[in-house]
Amino acid sequence: MPELPEVETIARELRPLVVGAVVRETWTDWPRVIRHPDPAAFGRGLVGHEVLDVTRRAKWLVLALSGELALVVQVKMTGQLLVQPARVPRDRHVHLAVAFEDGRELRLRDVRKFARVGLYRRGEDGMPLAADEAAELFAGHGPEPLDPSFTLRAWRARLRGRRGRLKSLLMDQAFLAGVGNIYADEALWRARLHPLRGAASLRPAEERRLYEAVRGVLREGIERRGSSVGDYTAPEGDGEMQQHLDVYQRTGRPCHRCGRPVRRIVLGGRGTHFCSWCQRLPLAERTPAVRRLLASATVAARRGPTWDDLPAAVGAVGARPSRGTRRAAR
Ligand SMILES: [Zn+2]
Repeated sequence: MPELPEVETIARELRPLVVGAVVRETWTDWPRVIRHPDPAAFGRGLVGHEVLDVTRRAKWLVLALSGELALVVQVKMTGQLLVQPARVPRDRHVHLAVAFEDGRELRLRDVRKFARVGLYRRGEDGMPLAADEAAELFAGHGPEPLDPSFTLRAWRARLRGRRGRLKSLLMDQAFLAGVGNIYADEALWRARLHPLRGAASLRPAEERRLYEAVRGVLREGIERRGSSVGDYTAPEGDGEMQQHLDVYQRTGRPCHRCGRPVRRIVLGGRGTHFCSWCQRLPLAERTPAVRRLLASATVAARRGPTWDDLPAAVGAVGARPSRGTRRAAR
């Protein structure tokens, strides 16, 4: 599932491709991808409007259009956005196409059809209006972790009084927007905090470490154009962050800090990866339920080869630059 860095990368790479383009018509063979308004009104509403900008809010892409409109897209698990000449045949997984007057199409390709799009009125900041029909989209989202207004002070205020465990809290979109399974695991490893650690027990120095780790890993994810695990790819090809992850999907492989094997537990239905040496859980938090969960930890890779194991050409869509300089640089 694309998280903040992946969606940000798509937005940045889509922007130069579509800004200035004017919509001629739309096409779909899967009307359910259009969540708002009804498909006919969606198609009519887009025609003749120019794309002014492409931005991101949480895990959504927001295309600001002339006429105070915003086309929002959530790519979800397997959605990909492509800009192609209309004469190039659409493959069978393209379920929505926005044709521009210049002869190109913005295509939503989605193998599993989880993606959704909507057309809304927007405010002057380019974001959909938080009123009426658009309210459902962003009203429940927490702050943007990379926004300048999201200071350490704001982070501490947000943590105050929170009970849940750190992993679940980081993935809660109402708490913080844009962080999912990959970057939650990575941030906790960087901050040397156990995923099952209770948020209420953090000391000030730990709060600061987690704040810096979350922002640092998201920034690095954007610089590396996202993690191409699963189906994520950006308009300019795959990202490379997947080659630089420290714990995510590295079960059984040596921790990059201490060399002990990375462990995996299942928390809330999601694989959670950590180093039990570097990310200690205080004794006071080792309740019987937590002990049972930790006892279920596996250090054997359950899936096929990870990105680290694949030979250079396998599975790659974009270029794969050489690895190995990163540890030294840190
Ligand atoms: Zn370690």
